[in-house]
Amino acid sequence: MGRFELISFDAEGTLVTPVFSETIWHEAIPALYAQKRGIGLAQAKKCIAKEYNKIGDQRLEWYDIEYWFSYLDLGPSEPVIQSCLNKIAHYPEVIEVLSSLANEYKLIVASGTPLELLHCLLRDIKPYFVRIFSSISHYRQVKSPDFYLRICEEMGVKPSQVIHVGDNWQFDFLNARQAGLNVFYIDRSGKNHQESLSDLTQLKHLLSSL
Ligand SMILES: [Mg+2]
Repeated sequence: MGRFELISFDAEGTLVTPVFSETIWHEAIPALYAQKRGIGLAQAKKCIAKEYNKIGDQRLEWYDIEYWFSYLDLGPSEPVIQSCLNKIAHYPEVIEVLSSLANEYKLIVASGTPLELLHCLLRDIKPYFVRIFSSISHYRQVKSPDFYLRICEEMGVKPSQVIHVGDNWQFDFLNARQAGLNVFYIDRSGKNHQESLSDLTQLKHLLSSL
């Protein structure tokens, strides 16, 4: 048995681009809000941004699309989600890296995105993963140290046997590390410091050199 059993990936910003979510939250929702209220798009964007900021990303509502549709009185979310599906894209190296790592490790997704959006986002790469975890849909929490411990328990592995990769300093790096996982921080902006990965090909190379 190798030292590492399981590789856990964050979804947005790590496997798939943020464009789908950005379009939903910052384009499609404000456009619908503008239409429903009979106001201009610029004004709607301003109002919505203010509402988002009032909640903030430490609270569950931030991630909960059903909460926002109901709070803003926008009707059903499904047509809006459907209208943004063409914005889903994974990063270029992802398929090659996942298909190679899947030969040696169990792969999972550990995301803060609710399942109704996560299933859309992962539609092209789902077969590479043995499980998909959403902190909000499965455990009603943001990605805390407790979330990572519960995943380990569920998967029957020790935190030290797990590698987690993600692009959020708090929710991926600090919280997974606090739970005892081995963590790689991915920074796709290019201005990465020494310790971080700039893409997942680097992860593959690091693991093959172990
Ligand atoms: Mg992310």
